[in-house]
Amino acid sequence: MLGFTDGPGQWAFDRGALAGQPGLIGVVISASSNPPHPLSGDALASAVHLQLARSMPGLPAARWSKVITEKFATFACTPGLVRPATRTRAAGVFLAGDHVASDYPATLEGAVRSGQNAARCVADYLGEYLTERPADRCRQC
Ligand SMILES: Cc1cc2nc3c(=O)[nH]c(=O)nc-3n(C[C@H](O)[C@H](O)[C@H](O)COP(=O)(O)OP(=O)(O)OC[C@H]3O[C@@H](n4cnc5c(N)ncnc54)[C@H](O)[C@@H]3O)c2cc1C
Repeated sequence: MLGFTDGPGQWAFDRGALAGQPGLIGVVISASSNPPHPLSGDALASAVHLQLARSMPGLPAARWSKVITEKFATFACTPGLVRPATRTRAAGVFLAGDHVASDYPATLEGAVRSGQNAARCVADYLGEYLTERPADRCRQC
């Protein structure tokens, strides 16, 4: 993984090392603007390749590229937003993920805390106890 302070890419992931796809590099551009970058398509892919080549001298020309724009990668955390609770109306079914109601916006931390809370809810539901400390018990179901 490489992090960049210049544009257009912000993070580059070697999918050969990470996912058994040798020669494939995934580059992430995270932005809230619309459009997310003034360049698009092949022009953006070329700019990213030039950026990578600055960090990796000798990088060969790209044989293939694809630009994916995910407009709804995360929900907009606006005031008054209603998010689903961990407990659902279906007995024994609980929700976990960054979209579930919590103190955090759509982040990795929010997803992890939601998962922990869902696990506590499941334990409660099953009549088990993870801890003796009441403060650590499920807060949302
Ligand atoms: C481009 C980008 C950059 C980000 N950068 C940051 C960052 O810097 N810091 C940060 O904290 N957060 C960042 N986030 C947000 C963070 O990635 C999410 O908040 C977090 O991954 C949410 O975790 P999750 O488990 O709720 O959902 P996900 O990570 O989305 O996991 C859901 C999983 O469910 C699977 N799935 C979906 N539907 C089905 C189905 N029907 N059947 C089976 N499986 C299914 C999906 O394939 C996926 O694997 C970023 C998000 C994006 C998109």
